[in-house]
Amino acid sequence: MKQNLIGLNQENLEKFFLSMGEKSFRSRQVYQWIHQKGVSDFRAMTNISKELQDKLNEKAEIKAPKVILEKDSKDGTRKWILSVGEDDLVEMVLIPEGKRFTLCVSSQVGCAIDCSFCATGKQGFSRNLELSEIIGQLWVAENSFGVPRDHANRKVTNVVMMGMGEPLLNFDAVTGAMSMMMDQKAYGLSKRKVTLSTSGLVPLIDKLSQVTDAALTISLHAPNDQLRNELVPINKKYPIKKLLESVIRYVNSCGDSRKTTIEYILIDKVNDSLENAHELCDLLKVLPCKINLIPFNPFPGSSYKRPSSMRIQTFKKILQKEGYITTVRTTRGEDIMAACGQLVGQVNDKTKRKERTQKRIAAQAIS
Ligand code: SAH
Ligand code: SF4
Repeated sequence: MKQNLIGLNQENLEKFFLSMGEKSFRSRQVYQWIHQKGVSDFRAMTNISKELQDKLNEKAEIKAPKVILEKDSKDGTRKWILSVGEDDLVEMVLIPEGKRFTLCVSSQVGCAIDCSFCATGKQGFSRNLELSEIIGQLWVAENSFGVPRDHANRKVTNVVMMGMGEPLLNFDAVTGAMSMMMDQKAYGLSKRKVTLSTSGLVPLIDKLSQVTDAALTISLHAPNDQLRNELVPINKKYPIKKLLESVIRYVNSCGDSRKTTIEYILIDKVNDSLENAHELCDLLKVLPCKINLIPFNPFPGSSYKRPSSMRIQTFKKILQKEGYITTVRTTRGEDIMAACGQLVGQVNDKTKRKERTQKRIAAQAIS
């Protein structure tokens, strides 16, 4: 089988070249061709000899997830459905905002956490993405601006691990891909421009602090354990107090005065009362944070509703009055089902659904 070079970091690519009896500087040239120029054809690598190109063609490939479908929203948001082998599909979303281009990247096919408000969770869990499939998403998005790449013109400026899946449950591949995103010789994004969002797996947040100081976002969604147990079932294992303690440890280990972002989905008459807002203010006093309110995005089969703008604004004002920097996330790409929580990777997915559901039940049984 050919070695896929897209998922090898500098060190591993160098090892691969040395194992072929090639000089290490050749690996640095190829690394640049792949990640800075977006080239997937060894023949296009003009500073590489014909002999080495032949050898690479024989032993290696540069393979990103295959684009199955590309859809553009009225608001400029673009969604891709990507095939990652067999019947597994994932989605990624690019959100333009002026000069900023934020890419929302998937980490798993489906998700086993099964939050009650999330379409990805309802789909069940199929498998973890490989490192090459995660960094490959950024590669595809960058190439959509044109090859050879022209970074002075347009580039992905921010990456959020907020697509399908729970990134911490695919720890090595996700953190490996994140460090390539931040590698100056690859995509060169700063640690504040690469964000991992998690439903709150406490031991893995601690483990994360040992390998990265990228930005962390917590999907809290409820101000008390009783409600959070219902919305985010992993809370039964890692309750709010333990979660917030681990976030404080993470922030301290980063050694700067950054604020963590707390995501709070607003679901009509479920977690959006005045009492909930006050409870949230009290709860978060222990943590330097800003709050991002996400109005619930509906999807087929869910009985939850998005609150009225009036209820959303009232909730926001309470938090702001207590001194929290609070924003309401503008819903983007809703017309193409690209908004938060609407990603399911479906083109025509009925055959796999049953199998996924069985896997989900199995995953729940062991968690
Ligand atoms: N699994 C990780 C990252 C992916 S989910 C996590 O849960 O953090 C990314 C974000 O989308 C999370 O904040 C999640 O709570 C939010 N989300 C999920 N379903 C949603 C929905 N239906 N409407 C709005 N936001 C949703
Ligand atoms: Fe998984 Fe995140 Fe969706 Fe929860 S919100 S089911 S953790 S993808």
